[in-house]
Amino acid sequence: MSNFIQVTRSSMPNFDEYIEEIKDLWDSQWLTNMGNKHNKLEAELVKYLGTSNISLFTNGHLALECAIAALNLTGEVITTPFTFVSTTHAILRNGLEPVFCDINPYDYTIDIDKLESLITYKTSAIIPVHVYGNVCNVAEIERIAKKYNLKVIYDAAHAFGVSINDVGIGNFGDASMFSFHATKVFNTIEGGAVTFKDENFKNKLNSIKNFGITGPESIEDIGINAKMNEFQAAMGICNLKSIDKNISKRKDIVERYIENLTNIKGVKLIKEQKNVKSNYSYFPVVFDGYKISRDKVYQLLKQNNIIARKYFYPLTNTLDCYKGRFNIEDTPIAKYIADRVLCLPLYSDLSIEHVDRICNVIKAR
Ligand SMILES: *Cc1c(COP(=O)(O)O)cnc(C)c1O
Repeated sequence: MSNFIQVTRSSMPNFDEYIEEIKDLWDSQWLTNMGNKHNKLEAELVKYLGTSNISLFTNGHLALECAIAALNLTGEVITTPFTFVSTTHAILRNGLEPVFCDINPYDYTIDIDKLESLITYKTSAIIPVHVYGNVCNVAEIERIAKKYNLKVIYDAAHAFGVSINDVGIGNFGDASMFSFHATKVFNTIEGGAVTFKDENFKNKLNSIKNFGITGPESIEDIGINAKMNEFQAAMGICNLKSIDKNISKRKDIVERYIENLTNIKGVKLIKEQKNVKSNYSYFPVVFDGYKISRDKVYQLLKQNNIIARKYFYPLTNTLDCYKGRFNIEDTPIAKYIADRVLCLPLYSDLSIEHVDRICNVIKAR
C-alpha cells in the first residue's frame, strides 16, 4: 500500500550488490566467529566512526550487556528512564540496580544538574543515553565520573555517525554501544558494536561475546554468545557505502518537517545542538498545549494511514516487569515529555510529499 506511511523503513543495499558481497562465503564456508567480513566491517567502522577500537556484536542489546559485564560493575548504576527498554534491562540483567536520573527539558538527555546528588557509595557507573542522537553533556559527565571514580558507558544506539566538534561520538566515556538494528540509521539486519579507548578492553569484550573462550583449552570468563555473523557483516559492508547519502536525505526530510511545524502554538521541536553533526535519526515532536493532545494526534495520523510512535512512552521505570520497584515521581521531566512526545515517520526514502501530507494532517485539525 503506497498510501500507507510506516514510522520507519530499513535501508537496504541493491540486491545484486549484497549477493556479490556474500558470494565468496560459499568458497570459504566460514559463516561466523570473526570471519573476513566481520573483520573488514570492524576496520571500516573504526574509520567511519573515528574511534580507536571497536568490537562487533550480534545486536546492540547484547553489546551493552557485554560492555557492562566487561567493566566489572557493582551495586548501583545511574541512568535515565527516557530510553528504549534495552538500557534498563541490560543493567538489571547484569545483577545491578538502576538509579533513575531525570532528563533535561531541552534535548531529553540526562540532567547533569541532578546527577551528582544520586551518587552513593554503591554507585559504580553512569549509563547515559544519547537519546534521538542528541548528544549528552559529555564534558560534565566526564568531570563527575572522574571526581567519584565512576565508569561511563554511553547508550549510543541512536547516535551512529554523530560527532561533536568533529570528534566521533564513540570516543567518550569508557565505552559506547551502537545498535545496528534494522530500524536504525545504519543496519546489519540485527547487530551492534562497542567502541572504547582502552586497547586491552578488546580481549575482554571478545572473550565475553564468545562464551569466555580465550584459547583452545581456556575459558576465563562466564561469557555469552553475542558474535556478529558473516551475513550480518556483509549487510553492514554494503549499507556503509550509502550511509552518507542516506543521512543527507534524512537531513532534507527533517528540514522539511521543521519548515512545516515551526511557530505553531503548542508544537515543540528540539533545537539543533551547537557544534554537533547530527544523523537525523528521529523526529520527535512534543505536543504541549496544542489544540489536541499527543494521543489524539497519534489517532488522527493513524486514521490517515500514517504510523507515528510514542517513543519513549511508557518510561522504563514504569514498565509492568518492574512493578513496584521504581517511582516515576523521581523523574518528573521524563514523565512530562513521555506523556506528550510523538516520533513522526522518518527514513531515508520518505518523500517530501509524504512529509507535507503528514504535517497537513496534524495542522488541519
Ligand atoms: C535499539 C536500541 C537498543 C538495542 O539495540 P538492539 O540492536 O535492538 O538490540 C538499545 N538502546 C536504545 C536506546 C535503542 O534504541
